[in-house]
Amino acid sequence: MRRIKLSLAIMILTLIASGTSNAASWVNFPTSWDVGQVFAVSITSTAEYSSPTVTWMNRTINLSVEPGGAGKISYGLLGSDVRSIKPGRYKILFEFVQAGKKYKASGNVYLRPKEYPKENLTVSPKMVNPPKKELSRIRNESQLVGTALRTMTVPRKWTTPPQPPLASITLTSNYGKQRIYNGQPRQPHGGADIRAVTGTSVRAPFAGTVVLTGFHYYAGGSVYIDSGNGVITIFFHLSNILVKKGDKVEKGQVVAKSGATGRVTGPHLHYSLSLGGQFVDPIPLLSTSITQMLKHGSIQQVN
Ligand SMILES: [Zn+2]
Repeated sequence: MRRIKLSLAIMILTLIASGTSNAASWVNFPTSWDVGQVFAVSITSTAEYSSPTVTWMNRTINLSVEPGGAGKISYGLLGSDVRSIKPGRYKILFEFVQAGKKYKASGNVYLRPKEYPKENLTVSPKMVNPPKKELSRIRNESQLVGTALRTMTVPRKWTTPPQPPLASITLTSNYGKQRIYNGQPRQPHGGADIRAVTGTSVRAPFAGTVVLTGFHYYAGGSVYIDSGNGVITIFFHLSNILVKKGDKVEKGQVVAKSGATGRVTGPHLHYSLSLGGQFVDPIPLLSTSITQMLKHGSIQQVN
């Protein structure tokens, strides 16, 4: 009886202590990173919190709250698009709500310059300067893509490392390469080209929901998959699309067959990863995990 009373007293004391003691929370982000490359961020806390976000490159990304770390954790994958972001110092802002109070933590990430090579390509002239009759189609497709890339959902459906999209990964053109089409400079490469004969099975790197499919002017057969927290996988030049908008896909599910549709010099799979609208190099992530990446961050206490 005495033992029961004692343990009851301890339980009540513990409850009071957890109700009155202040939670401790931290954010983790790298203070410097290569432009174009993926980096990891997190919010951790000893107590429950809600509405975690990270704001980076003018986009606020909703994160998920999960058990882990010192109690609760939110993971984020971020990066910078080598096509539009110059090396330099950029602000990162974390926000969350805890016990009715809004907490903010901010810092700077210095994006280091990184050399990406140049590449000369020869394609059909209409793929460099499209005929006038195709312009409204191209505009319409770019609006659909813009909408797909602004998708922002929770919870997190991505887990690292991703499932490689093809059984064998041999790069034929790296992310970030400056493209010169028929002698005319165009945007650097926003993804990685992987060797694949037409008809090769393409697998979803992460679980998620298909947000756009179509046969687009430049991209050819395209699939866009949202995996939560601003993480969107994109495949181009597909010969056959096996999913449609709204479909839920599992990690590793075959979603398409590779091909040579759109602006190509031959069959291959174009694989892009958009993180909060920033197209990053998708390849290094294939061989690492969020836990490994967070080891490169610096930790800042919030409360
Ligand atoms: Zn490509």
